[in-house]
Amino acid sequence: MVVAACIVGMRQTTGTDAVRVTAMRVTSTDSTYVIRLTANRTIVHWQKPEVHGNAIVIRLPEAVYAVTDSALVDGVRHNHEVIRSILVERFSFAFAPTSVEAKRDGPRDIVVTVHKPGQQRQSPASRAAAPHAEWALDVIVLDPGHGGVDAGAEGVNGAYEKNVTLAIAQRLRALLRTAMPNTKVVMTRDDDTFIELYRRGQIANEAGGKLFISIHCNSMPKKPHPARGCETYILRPGRNQDAARVAARENASIRFEKSQERYKGFSEDQLIVATMAQASFVRLSESLARHVQHEVSTTTKLKNRGVNQAGFFVLVGASMPNILFETAFLSNPDDAAYVCSAEGQATIASSMLKAIQAYERSYATLLHR
Ligand SMILES: [Zn+2]
Repeated sequence: MVVAACIVGMRQTTGTDAVRVTAMRVTSTDSTYVIRLTANRTIVHWQKPEVHGNAIVIRLPEAVYAVTDSALVDGVRHNHEVIRSILVERFSFAFAPTSVEAKRDGPRDIVVTVHKPGQQRQSPASRAAAPHAEWALDVIVLDPGHGGVDAGAEGVNGAYEKNVTLAIAQRLRALLRTAMPNTKVVMTRDDDTFIELYRRGQIANEAGGKLFISIHCNSMPKKPHPARGCETYILRPGRNQDAARVAARENASIRFEKSQERYKGFSEDQLIVATMAQASFVRLSESLARHVQHEVSTTTKLKNRGVNQAGFFVLVGASMPNILFETAFLSNPDDAAYVCSAEGQATIASSMLKAIQAYERSYATLLHR
């Protein structure tokens, strides 16, 4: 998890003592773009730029954007935001850079070299195809929540969340294999096994996943409870108490793990950094989330509770568009009966398939927007 390292040693900065980035110039050669950032004084802290899809991100802790002298070239888009005291500079290209390197050029300048893909990709047709190919849905990772010693929520009908999530994931896998035969489906678990939350993202990354879908069931502490319906989460700092409740309940799975060290200090700050690390595909995650909510709520009898956001450990490590889907409330008698029935599970799985297909159709547009 890269999250922790970014935060260590950082102090809160006020506007007055922050480094001011005053100039930003981009030049282009056949094989590279060169970005020069100049500050008003010594740039003490900066982080190695990272490639995220067709963009690069440079983070300058304790800095502010005060650019009065800027020059961009065609084919490069720039935006910036300040999150807490970190200035996040983001440069997007029409392709996925093959690599990026950065060095100091004197105390006030940082020079970033972005390598363009090889000549073969330079034709207009392949340039347009490159980002699409990167996210082509060749591998989908399904993550049935909980498992083994971690039963998840227990329903009013006695059902365990771990069994419901596995059943729906297995049904969805079967549907995907038929409907999308060229797509490989990877399961983080395919039986009643306990898998650590961090490990689930690793499995997805190792498999080269292009989509990560974590499947869960919601529950209220008091049962039975009238709350009902489906909701989909993306990884972002929580917006409300209910989202925080859901994330806390799902994150509690770590109590079954041998060591909780890796999750320690997972503060709001770190969550913001983790969210930034996913900046290049957050739109895709949101898109998938919306498709899931639309399809599931129109096809099944589950109420639409919408797309929400919170800090889920299981989503932090997945380097691909990702969502956490709370199918239904096991603490609600109607929801529990439906989500535990063969008919309910089959309908939920088929509506998720439709959502994935709708996402696939729409994402070329999203990538080029
Ligand atoms: Zn769960």
